[in-house]
Amino acid sequence: MSERRQPVLSCRDVRVFVDDKSIVHGVSLDIYPGERHALMGPNGSGKSTFAQALMGHPAYRVEGEIYLRGERITDRSPDQRARRGLFLGFQYPVAVPGLSVASFLRAAVGARRGDKPPIRAFRKELFEAFRVLDIPREFAGRYLNDGFSGGEKKRLEILQLLLLKPAFALLDEIDSGLDIDALKVVASGIDRGLGKDQGLLMVTHYQRILDYLPPDRVHVFVAGRIARSGGPEQALELEARGYEQRQGSVGEPAATSAPSESARS
Ligand code: ADP
Ligand code: MG
Repeated sequence: MSERRQPVLSCRDVRVFVDDKSIVHGVSLDIYPGERHALMGPNGSGKSTFAQALMGHPAYRVEGEIYLRGERITDRSPDQRARRGLFLGFQYPVAVPGLSVASFLRAAVGARRGDKPPIRAFRKELFEAFRVLDIPREFAGRYLNDGFSGGEKKRLEILQLLLLKPAFALLDEIDSGLDIDALKVVASGIDRGLGKDQGLLMVTHYQRILDYLPPDRVHVFVAGRIARSGGPEQALELEARGYEQRQGSVGEPAATSAPSESARS
């Protein structure tokens, strides 16, 4: 008997609303174990809203269904989703003065594993993750994201990914604001943190990070829906031609291109 493989993350006609305003208009997506997908699209198209709604952000009302490893999580709170292995790396990580990096991470890891790890064992694990991400050890005692540079905040998001070992990671513009060296470190951290049983959806504007983390599929998000999906070549095409040509009907360039694009084709 052949057993059908189950997606790690499955979205069925997901619609996202703020009050009565519709922002995401019906997204269906299956991401299987070991797969890495990229979600690209212009500013304001709803990518962050979609990612945050999947994580259960209370500002959003969701219609449709979300499954994590076959379990329906549509009505779960963000912490219940996180405990079950859903992870969101923020586009804009929040600073929490007064809460040290080490105690935050130990509490988070404890919640995910169901038991707080002993301090000594945890420090060992933490410092190994610091090494992978090229983060100085003194960051353990600093307050979470407080006074961190943009690049340091992004590394800390990936540090969480390494320690929490999520079933599925949503990463929202993890590459923005990173110089090339930091980008390589972050990409190799993501690669290390996600194995053959896990899944990834990477929201990004740029091909750059995809050179280090080649996606299996690329989805182009326009005005609250997936306008087009394809292989990795899709990202290269977008980089060369922009999103404008893709805003028409699916699979067909729009009849007219934006003025800034007209000289190029
Ligand atoms: P992207 O990440 O693709 O740049 P966003 O998801 O951040 O886009 O935003 C999509 C649209 O949804 C924007 O017009 C934004 O203003 C709106 N939006 C997102 N969250 C809220 C909110 N909490 N309240 C009102 N409007 C929102
Ligand atoms: Mg965004």
